[in-house]
Amino acid sequence: MEGPPENDLCSICHGVFTVPCQANCSHWFCGDCIMLVWDHGSALQPCKCPLCRRNITLLIPTEASLQLRQDSSVSEILRKVETYNRTFGGRSDGLIQVIASVYVPFQYCICIRLVAPFLGVRMAPFWCNN
Ligand SMILES: [Zn+2]
Ligand SMILES: [Zn+2]
Repeated sequence: MEGPPENDLCSICHGVFTVPCQANCSHWFCGDCIMLVWDHGSALQPCKCPLCRRNITLLIPTEASLQLRQDSSVSEILRKVETYNRTFGGRSDGLIQVIASVYVPFQYCICIRLVAPFLGVRMAPFWCNN
């Protein structure tokens, strides 16, 4: 597909698309708008599509917006979209969850606490004393 359906509007800003990008779930957004949605959530996790709630792991800008790259505001958006694709493209949600949980010590602590009895590990009293 070469661009968003004619007369379609961005469902985030309800305006005409600027730097239209198609998500892997086939919905279209302004590159700018969908990056704002991502900014509001965790940088470690892909954002969810505001329409269908699927995880967005890929955003494909149109050929036309790639040609507007000389425009500094457009190139800024495209750079961000590319970073997003590099971060989340091709990864399974499972792996991202694992990475996210390892970065959160509290969740890690709960995990050890649940797993330890099955492994026969005696937990030192200074562990998980919160
Ligand atoms: Zn928009
Ligand atoms: Zn969607």
